[in-house]
Amino acid sequence: MGSVPESADRAPLVDRLHGVISDLAQNVRAYPCSVQTDELTQLNRAINRLQAEFTRRTRILDQNQGWVATGALSTQAWLRRECHLSAAAAADRVRLGRRLEDLPKTASAFGEGAISLQHASLLCRTCEQVGVEPTREAEPILVGAARELDPRQLRIVTERFRYCTDPDGVAREVDATFERRYFDLSQTWDGIYFLNGMFDAESGEVLKTALNALLPPPAGDDHRSAGQRRADALLELCRQNLDSGSLPQRGGQKPHLHLLAGLGALQKLMGAAAPELNGQQMVPAETAHLLACDAGLSTDTSGQNGEGCADALSHMSRVVSGATRRALWQRDGGCRFPGCDRPPGWTDAHHIVHWADGGETKLGNLVLLCRRHHRQVHEQGWRLMREMGGSLQALPP
Ligand SMILES: [Zn+2]
Ligand SMILES: [Zn+2]
Repeated sequence: MGSVPESADRAPLVDRLHGVISDLAQNVRAYPCSVQTDELTQLNRAINRLQAEFTRRTRILDQNQGWVATGALSTQAWLRRECHLSAAAAADRVRLGRRLEDLPKTASAFGEGAISLQHASLLCRTCEQVGVEPTREAEPILVGAARELDPRQLRIVTERFRYCTDPDGVAREVDATFERRYFDLSQTWDGIYFLNGMFDAESGEVLKTALNALLPPPAGDDHRSAGQRRADALLELCRQNLDSGSLPQRGGQKPHLHLLAGLGALQKLMGAAAPELNGQQMVPAETAHLLACDAGLSTDTSGQNGEGCADALSHMSRVVSGATRRALWQRDGGCRFPGCDRPPGWTDAHHIVHWADGGETKLGNLVLLCRRHHRQVHEQGWRLMREMGGSLQALPP
């Protein structure tokens, strides 16, 4: 380190930097696009350089224990208190500062602004995992990749490098990640379910591939968010498995939903007892109507508060029989909602006149609807009208 300049000489440097940043914050909307993109690229490089300088100074503070005079107990503690970094980010920064001393090419590319903080952290973490010698040997290639790739792509490169130099270490790490897997499904007091979990890379890919298979590109009228579409895909996955009957038996029965609803509730009569799903969850009449519509689930209309007038035998006739369903699949070939292209496997059999209102479970009164359109009809007030030629017209609420 050279001689320490007077603080009076140093302060204006940082002041000048703030002055330049203020000057940059002028209105650039009138600039040609090429100038805007050029400047953005340059700003990104400047941010990288500032991050490198911040890391270098942190390392100096760390070496000099400059934090002692401030009352902090460590460099990390000082970074958390004064710069509001998270504990992980502060520890990462201190580790990066120390490790960069072993990786001169990485430090130099970071200092030029050619690679970002994330790139530099990734290379330093790789060095910690693999060792200094092998990383320094491969450093020209790794830094070359970091200059060209985004951090996610660079992670693939560093993982391959690790695999070549330390296959046992990679295997141990994969095992450790697999052991940390978990999946929680918890219900709040008002009935909402929350999912929370973590999967190792391979299991995550299995989940993603299965969900993506049920996530076709959004149609023009599909206004669901990406999160809503993923949630629907997960539910579809579960539903198709329940419907297929291929799940193992529990208590001598195939797993299924159990809806307890009086006929009055299905007919949406005032004062009817609230329908219940699986004996605990109250559901609105519209949802019960939807669930009972394709009675592939076991529907019990008898006995609730004595108002049910259907016995189990007459209920059986309301279940869409295998033969009727096959004929429906053949006739409709998928969802019949105008403009929808969902295949039969994604559909329910919908009673145009609900059986609770006297509609028959016969081909003439049934159409296939995908879950989304089935929900639109029962819960959002869309109406289906049969036209002369047999096609369906959908009337919005
Ligand atoms: Zn229906
Ligand atoms: Zn549909």
